Amino acid sequence: MIDRVEELRFELPIDALTDDADFITRALVPFGGGFLNRERMSFVFCGQSWIVHVDGLIVLIDPCNGNGRKRPGFPYFEDLDTPWLAGLAAAGVAPEEIDIVFCTHLHCDHCGWNTRDEGGRWVPTFPNATYLFAAREVARWDPAAAVDPDPEFNEYNRHVFAESVAPVLAAGLARLIEPPYRVSPSLLAEAAPGHTHGHMILRLESAEAIAYFVGDTLHHPAQILRPDLHLRGCDDLGQAIATRKSLFARVAAERALIFPAHFPEPHHGRIVATADGFDFVPGEPFPLLQAAGTLEHESHIDTEVPNI
Ligand SMILES: [Zn+2]
Repeated sequence: MIDRVEELRFELPIDALTDDADFITRALVPFGGGFLNRERMSFVFCGQSWIVHVDGLIVLIDPCNGNGRKRPGFPYFEDLDTPWLAGLAAAGVAPEEIDIVFCTHLHCDHCGWNTRDEGGRWVPTFPNATYLFAAREVARWDPAAAVDPDPEFNEYNRHVFAESVAPVLAAGLARLIEPPYRVSPSLLAEAAPGHTHGHMILRLESAEAIAYFVGDTLHHPAQILRPDLHLRGCDDLGQAIATRKSLFARVAAERALIFPAHFPEPHHGRIVATADGFDFVPGEPFPLLQAAGTLEHESHIDTEVPNI
């Protein structure tokens, strides 16, 4: 069983991805919905977590941004007060019941709820979970590790490591893994580098379906048609594009489902091979388990798109 908990949504200008008017008209207009607002020339960025019940485990994938965080340069994620925990409860899951927390990568919007504020201290939100982090990704973001090739980019994520990763490490709840890593009989963590150096995906193979939880390997279905399109902020753009191409080929060949971190409705879908590449087939409408009061920032489109 797969559930979804939404934290927030906002609009980004489509030209953050592409200003190719012909491509937009030919390829993106048919998607419509949250993938393209033609009047505003924008698309919806949806912040959400996935919950998988499999092999007797409850697995939480990418626990969003979290409340009360300072995010210099990230106005969308600054000082949030969302009912994400109520959304988790609405999905029938208490924090104590989470067995595995899987962070595809350690950007602020994928590990924020790893911890919560308790009397001015950041403590693990999921006290009985094993948190799976890619060892390469921890080294990427640990200010003490000194392996970051881009200190400026490291700077704005510095608080994220201190607030959402270090307390988990200190509590002994983290397992640093080298993908491929077998999480459970049905779940395999795999390397998918590029967006960040240590970015991972999670592959689910059950009797019912094959599904890939792909994090930020892509942000918009336009990238399925044109894997070169991208938002700012990749650690290694060339590798991100290569990762997209190989991932899309596998997903199409296996007739698998993809569950990206930021797609708006229907939030998931399939990829099919075409004569000259790939296309996106939106999934069936997905049960909405967003908490009442989920933040929306739809009246305001920043032309200055942060690195996400
Ligand atoms: Zn993200």
